Parts: sequence; structure tokens; C-alpha cells
Amino acid sequence: MIEQTLVLIKPDGLKKSLTGNILTRLSETKLEIAGAKIVAVTRELAEQHYRHMKDKPFFNELIDYLTGQLHDRRKVMALVYHGENAISLVRTICGATNPEQAEPTSIRGAYGRITTSGLFENIIHASSNSQEAEREIKLWFKPSELVYRIYPAKKITEKTEKLIWK
Ligand code: ADP
Repeated sequence: MIEQTLVLIKPDGLKKSLTGNILTRLSETKLEIAGAKIVAVTRELAEQHYRHMKDKPFFNELIDYLTGQLHDRRKVMALVYHGENAISLVRTICGATNPEQAEPTSIRGAYGRITTSGLFENIIHASSNSQEAEREIKLWFKPSELVYRIYPAKKITEKTEKLIWK
């Protein structure tokens, strides 16, 4: 089945200069990149992204992690991969959530760690199923930022202030 999935290279991945390695590993899937950008992550965005973790004892630390406060890097790289079995292909290369249980050759197994406070700093996020992928892609990307019209979109006219080049 043709699918799309959201990938985030988390702040530890950027701080450890792993962007190139991770993109190379992901290119093994032969999937297409449908969108890519660097995002300065707000607390609201991080809380929306991890809304299913709200009741976890490590939720606040997880939000600090995704917003870059643990790594002095307030940004992540967000990508949308598109193609046959995109979700499971990308999840396999990422490895298990717990970096100690992840395959040693997976991205998380090779580069992740567990902090002394117990948070899994696991370098990368990848959507877990197609419903989550749709929710996450719509949360991180506007239709105009993707090269394919992956989900139905509509045109609206709005009068808002926006930043343009001088
Ligand atoms: P995944 O990122 O593999 O889809 P989850 O959505 O369950 O996994 O968890 C979101 C993130 O929360 C993980 O990527 C990891 O950074 C952190 N996390 C998950 N479970 C734990 C845990 N038991 N202890 C510490 N951190 C965790």
C-alpha cells in the first residue's frame, strides 16, 4: 500500500551531527521525500505531537526534549516520506523506542541513549500507523509545503499579516 510517514530528526540527532547519516540510512528505503524543513518547535506543537503521552511521568521532559531544551538546539528536521509500505520501512530502520532494545544497526540502536533520569533520547521520530501519520503530517506541514497533494485540501482567502522578503 502507498503510504506516507512523518519523520523528525530530534534535537539530539542535530546536535550529534547525524542528519547526513540518517538521511543516507533512510534512502535505503527508496522512498521519496515529499517535504522537508527545519522547524523551531514551540511547546504547543510538541504537546500536540505527543498528546498521546500526556499521562506519562516523563511527559514534561519529553516536551523539553522535542523543543530542544535538553540539547541547546531549538529545532528539529521534519520530513515526509512517501511510497510503498513507507510506515513500516521507516520504523524498521529507526528501531525500537527503547534504544537499548533497538537493533544495534538501527538508527536508535546505533545512536540513541537513555538519560540518567530515564528518558529515551532516541534521535528520530517516525509515525506508527496511517492515522497517526495523517494527523502528524497535517500538524507539521501545510499543503503547500508538500510536493504531492497527499490529503485533500481546500483554498481559503484570509487577510492576515505575514512576513515577506524586503
Ligand atoms: P515511538 O517514538 O517509538 O513512536 P512513543 O510514541 O511510545 O514511541 O513515545 C514517544 C517518545 O517518548 C519516544 O520516542 C521516547 O523519546 C519517549 N519514551 C517513550 N517511552 C518511554 C519510556 N518508557 N521511558 C522514557 N522515554 C520514553
